Amino acid sequence: MSGTVLPWFLDAHVHLALIDPSALAAGGIARVVDLGGWTPEPGGTAASGTGSSPLAVAHAGQFLAAPGGYPGAQSWAPAGSVCEVATAEDAAAAVDRQLAGGASVIKVTLNSVAGPVLGTDVLAAIIARAHERSTPVVAHAEGVGQAVRAFIAGVDVLAHTPFSERLVDELVDAMAGQMTWISTLDIHGWGEPTDDFARASDNLRRFHAHGGRVLYGTDLGNGPLPLGLNRREIDALLRIGMSPDEVLGALTSAFPAAGSASANAHGTVSVIPGERPTDPAGFAEWVCTARALSRSELEEYV
Ligand SMILES: [Zn+2]
Repeated sequence: MSGTVLPWFLDAHVHLALIDPSALAAGGIARVVDLGGWTPEPGGTAASGTGSSPLAVAHAGQFLAAPGGYPGAQSWAPAGSVCEVATAEDAAAAVDRQLAGGASVIKVTLNSVAGPVLGTDVLAAIIARAHERSTPVVAHAEGVGQAVRAFIAGVDVLAHTPFSERLVDELVDAMAGQMTWISTLDIHGWGEPTDDFARASDNLRRFHAHGGRVLYGTDLGNGPLPLGLNRREIDALLRIGMSPDEVLGALTSAFPAAGSASANAHGTVSVIPGERPTDPAGFAEWVCTARALSRSELEEYV
C-alpha cells in the first residue's frame, strides 16, 4: 500500500444543522464536535453513520446564553438551538438538560458584540455544574475582554482563537498552560484575510509558542467552507509557526473530554495517499487529499 495511515482526523468545531455531513469522510474528516444547535434524532446514536464511512459525532446540544444573547437573534440559528440561562440558580438544570440529550461538551456564548452576555456568577455556576459532571466547557468569546472572562472563569476550550483584541504575552502564556484553543482562522475572510484574521493569527502564534494546545477546527457551517479538510486553515496553521507534524497533531488529538469523539469505537482512520512531501506547501496539499476510511474500507485499501 502507498500512503500514510493516521488516527482519525477531527474537525473540533462544526455545526451539523447547517451542513450536509455525508461528504465529510471523503473530504478526510472522520470525527466532528458539533458546537451548538444540533441534537441527534430521537432514538439515534451520537455517531451518525453515513453508509460504510461512519462519522463519529460528539455534540454540545443547545448554546447556553444570556437571555437575548448570541446566537438567539441570528438568522442561521435553528429554532430551539439556544438555552437561555438567566440566573446562577438556572445553571445546573441547563447543563443537565444538554447531558440528558447526549451532549459530551457544554457550549457557552460570551459575545458582547451581538447582545447581552452571561454574568460572572451565572458563568461560574454553569462551569461548576459541567465540571461536577466531568464535562468540558467550550466558549464562544467575542468582543473585547470576553476571552479573558472565559479564562478567569475556568472555561476549558475556546471555540475560536481570540480575534477581537491582541492579548498581551503574559495572558497568552497563562492561557497556554490551562486552555485548549480551536483554530478557526479561515472564517476571517475565507482566503481574503481580514483584521480579525491578523489578530487571531498573532494570538495563536504566541499561544502555540508558549506550548498551548491547538485543535484543528473550522466552524463548518459558517460561510463558504469546504466539506472536508480546509487547505486554507492548514496553510494558516503552518504560517503561525506550527510544523507539519504539529499540524497533524492538531488534526489527530482527542477533544479534551471523555466523550464519544475521543473513543475510536468505529476503528476509523484517515489515510493520505502517496508520499509525504518535504516542503510545507506540498505538505498542505498532500494532507488535503486524505480520506476517512472505516476498518473494512481500510482492509480493502490495504
Ligand atoms: Zn460555531
